[in-house]
Amino acid sequence: MAGMILKEDVEKVRAATDLYDIVSASVTLRPSGTGTFVGLCPFHDEKTPSFSVRPALGVWHCFGCGLGGDVFGYVEHQENIDFREAVELLADKYHIELHYENSGGRTEHSGSKRARLIEANEEAQRFFMSQIMSKEALAARKLLGGRNFSRADCERFGCGYAPQGWDNLVRYLASKGFTQQEMLDAGLARQGQRGVYDYFRGRATWPIRDSTGRTLGFGARKLYDDDQIAAKYINTPDTQLYRKTQVLYGIDLAKSSIVKKRQVVIVEGYTDVMAMHLAGIDTAVATCGTAFGAEHAKIVRRLVADDSLGAVQLVGPLNVPGQALSSRIVFTFDGDAAGQKAALHAFGLDSAFLSQTFVAVADDNLDPCDLRINRGDQAVRSLIEHAKPLYDFVIDAAIGRFDTTYATGQMGAVKAVAPLIAQIRDRSQRDLYARKATRRIGVDLDIMQREVRSAHGQLHVRDEDAYSPRRRFGAGNGEGAGQPRVEPGSNPYANPAERRALEHRAA
Ligand SMILES: [Zn+2]
Repeated sequence: MAGMILKEDVEKVRAATDLYDIVSASVTLRPSGTGTFVGLCPFHDEKTPSFSVRPALGVWHCFGCGLGGDVFGYVEHQENIDFREAVELLADKYHIELHYENSGGRTEHSGSKRARLIEANEEAQRFFMSQIMSKEALAARKLLGGRNFSRADCERFGCGYAPQGWDNLVRYLASKGFTQQEMLDAGLARQGQRGVYDYFRGRATWPIRDSTGRTLGFGARKLYDDDQIAAKYINTPDTQLYRKTQVLYGIDLAKSSIVKKRQVVIVEGYTDVMAMHLAGIDTAVATCGTAFGAEHAKIVRRLVADDSLGAVQLVGPLNVPGQALSSRIVFTFDGDAAGQKAALHAFGLDSAFLSQTFVAVADDNLDPCDLRINRGDQAVRSLIEHAKPLYDFVIDAAIGRFDTTYATGQMGAVKAVAPLIAQIRDRSQRDLYARKATRRIGVDLDIMQREVRSAHGQLHVRDEDAYSPRRRFGAGNGEGAGQPRVEPGSNPYANPAERRALEHRAA
């Protein structure tokens, strides 16, 4: 264990660091007075910017949550690491060699743990990419070729191949000087009875990177029937670097376009991200092995922050002639469960986010990758252009499940949509959607309003726990009313800590 980092080295790192660069990697900043920039605080949830940065002085402060400090403090909070690790991370970024005081008074150099884990992942990525042209990787090349991806496309997105066998990567990383502990800590190897072995074996791989392009982990797709892991896709387990609730595949490629266009498109898979970018939708990203959750929403909101109005819009997108549409978050879903998945998002994320949220589903439930194969790039672009506002989509999907030519179907539809409409926080929007749904179902407005009021009343009583999956759609809405059911295990907000965070925000 090395001792403290020498003070002069800490100051060297501070001098080399540009606070503006560091903060703007994750927060969209706009000028506000001489030498000051503001943006949405990355450490608490807010709709108007109270987070200010003064790069020349090297300080930042949030008037909303009271946090503030220097560049090291920023990195500590941002990465959830301690001071020493923050210095090491920045030293690594700006190529400054650190020296440590040790007991003998001598100094020594050692790379930080985090930097080593990134290096191990970068090295693994080089290895997987070098394997994609091997004889053994034919199945991976066929898979990618079958999805209309050329060799150049695969290189651009870093597609690779993890060979079959037990220790190909382990031996390669050992030859590059990585210890077994580092391989385990990087999520690249597992501990077996006879030593460590490769985590990814016989699979096509995609590198999952942060917004600055550093490889944090991998997603890997099954290729062989005799794969010992049944799951079609597996990901790096959570490590010091990789947290599945915070990573988005493609963010390194999409980030600058997301900021510029104030649009982000969220798709469901690695090949969908590739298909989107190749079709010209260069703002596409995907979650990795988990549903889109509150942490992802925070990352996205900070990037699409609508700086023309000084904040994320609260009233929904404006259509200004001659200008690009104001900020939009577009989800694409495929499969029959699209409506249900959208409903989960609709009531799990906060309302400012929802007013800019759209849903795009291809006619015959094609995912973006298949859509591009069958109908070409233009069809993919058109899918995104014609996305529907999230609430409209969820409500239409719920009504669509009933035959409203009959009174029983009409009543079923009313009972299905009332609890959905009742959860829209904005009262005027709630009224609008009640009227819209009433027209579609073909019933009197007062029938719908009565049901919405009743559902809202029930929600009101349990407001402090409105996000509880068990209670989300209410229990007393009638047998067979056909509300989307939420499986507790599939709910990204079932986690008590996340729910608390959401409740805190709702308060
Ligand atoms: Zn704050």
